[in-house]
Amino acid sequence: MRIAMIGTGYVGLVSGVCFSEFGFDVTCVDIDADKIARLNNKEIPIYEPGLDALVERNLEAGRLAFTTDLEGAVAAANVVFIAVGTPSRRGDGEADLTYVFDAARQVARVMTPGTVVVIKSTVVVGTCRKVAQIIREERPDTEFSIASNPEFLREGSAIEDFMRPDRVVVGAEDERAEEALRRLYRPLYLRETPILVSTLENAELTKYAANAFLALKITFINEIANLCEQVGADVQKVASGIGLDNRIGGKFLHAGPGFGGSCFPKDTSALAATGARHGAPLRLVETTIEVNEARKRDMATRILTALGPETTGKRVGILGIAFKPNTDDVRDAPSLVIVPALQAAGVEVVAHDPEAREQAEPLLPGVIWCDNPYDVANDVDVLAVVTEWNLYRGLAPEELATRMRGRSVIDMRNIWAGPDVEAAGLSYQGIGKPAAK
Ligand code: NAD
Repeated sequence: MRIAMIGTGYVGLVSGVCFSEFGFDVTCVDIDADKIARLNNKEIPIYEPGLDALVERNLEAGRLAFTTDLEGAVAAANVVFIAVGTPSRRGDGEADLTYVFDAARQVARVMTPGTVVVIKSTVVVGTCRKVAQIIREERPDTEFSIASNPEFLREGSAIEDFMRPDRVVVGAEDERAEEALRRLYRPLYLRETPILVSTLENAELTKYAANAFLALKITFINEIANLCEQVGADVQKVASGIGLDNRIGGKFLHAGPGFGGSCFPKDTSALAATGARHGAPLRLVETTIEVNEARKRDMATRILTALGPETTGKRVGILGIAFKPNTDDVRDAPSLVIVPALQAAGVEVVAHDPEAREQAEPLLPGVIWCDNPYDVANDVDVLAVVTEWNLYRGLAPEELATRMRGRSVIDMRNIWAGPDVEAAGLSYQGIGKPAAK
């Protein structure tokens, strides 16, 4: 089996590298020549734990290649994955499928008869059939198969997620496509990973329904956190109590500054838009989006309130800019709402992130960056934890207190124990925690 992976971003790169680790020949293609050149130098363009070693091993074994030559890669492949981006379209929240359709057209022109074209990008229901239509228009006389194989990996644990998924979802309506995907995922049989083969529509919608449900779960616990703060309850205790119920499950019940990232915001928007377009409004999803947007703004308000009535000229330290730990991805991160809101109120923002600075710097002009997390505390009036990187968990409150000008710490991820912070003479505000006595 020879695979061409079109799009070498977070998903294409990780999937391509993992398939090569399974022993298949994989060529990862991208239009970004700089990205491809870096990868050919064994330089990883994204931060993803463990990826560098896998790239190096498979490049050296000759099973993995990186190129900008889509024609050559597709002509040599029997399975072509399309893993390009599907960002939100400005204005209406629908997914922008231009990259998928363009890639499909390019693939169609050069594929060999019998090629299986697999859509790995997250695409709204009905897209795979449109892709098949585009391919048929380009190559009316060439036989091919279409399949959907949405990806569920999470940035930060992408390799583990790809190698040990809870399930693999496949939409395939002919034997060749089904057989190709079953072969590619055969290495997971040992772990008895369920492989759900169904229609294209079922596979496409499963991905959106999964992401929307997880976004809804996060938003639910965030609202419970608000109530906890008002009634003197602790959201972490409530979350543990409900999470131990198997019908609910404990994951995605961590209250925080709102969900962000490259998937949940755009996928919930696209699903809501799809529902509206089909006359089946998804009101829970629509509300989740609204509540989450408001939550990010509310986080900025909490900091501004802690600064007091006069905010101009005050200084705030932000620990963590990435939308979650173990990634450099800042797409739709809560920090991108919080930081500009503070700056708009005349606040000087100092920030640290162990991996996301390069991505974030152009998006957050005016921020003063520190290389060391402790330096973020220097002379700040308020210190806020926005991303729960492990290296922040062990910071000594006494050291932070010595460096800070003000006394207020806002821990939006509940990574610190309030009493420890208070013992250092600071005031501590977590999320969904009873107010300090
Ligand atoms: P990304 O932006 O990191 O990567 C997309 C890549 O495709 C870019 O490098 C771009 O240059 C390349 N590209 C675009 N058009 C091309 C073409 N015609 N030929 C070759 N390369 C082309 O995106 P991503 O985060 O990897 O997401 C890809 C898809 O996977 C999206 O639909 C996303 O929703 C989905 N997804 C992402 C994640 C995640 O955690 N990032 C998880 C699951 C699913």
